Amino acid sequence: MIIPILFEPNPLLHQKARPVREDEFGADLERRLRDMAETMYAAPGVGLAGPQVGDLRRLIVVDLTEDRDDEGRRKKGEALTLMVNPIFLSKSKEVFKWEEGCLSVPEFWEYFERPKYVKVQYRDPYGGTHELDLADYPGVILQHEMDHLEGITLLDRVSRLKKTRYLKKVKKFKQRLEEEEAAW
Ligand SMILES: [Zn+2]
Repeated sequence: MIIPILFEPNPLLHQKARPVREDEFGADLERRLRDMAETMYAAPGVGLAGPQVGDLRRLIVVDLTEDRDDEGRRKKGEALTLMVNPIFLSKSKEVFKWEEGCLSVPEFWEYFERPKYVKVQYRDPYGGTHELDLADYPGVILQHEMDHLEGITLLDRVSRLKKTRYLKKVKKFKQRLEEEEAAW
């Protein structure tokens, strides 16, 4: 089931997500994460965090695959990872620069430097504990999604000017939609 994605400037995107409780692990939690994955692939995107679908729990779905098919498209679904209560065990001093976009901030891209290597520990929907070492692009995706759990979006990482300019554009776009609807 596809869940509506929240866009900036939605206040839910700026709330800190809470850890999933022990009594919440199980089939219902897996279903929720699978719905988030379906939503992510439909968007299309490579990562989605709970707050982006209004679920203020520490949930992340990411597709960490770097494999490409013969036409150079990323192979989907091969490295889909469902993460509950993820935490970074380590981050490298060495950084990696990548242009990031976000499903909650459409039509916006910006280059950021983030740690090049990260080690993450997370739990699966049934409570099992796992660890992953990630580098470069997959590591950046995960760091971006972890920001969402802290209530941080790309707009919080750019200059005030860029943020204001983007939000003005969104406001204008919304007004235009409303005017068009009214004209009908
Ligand atoms: Zn995002």
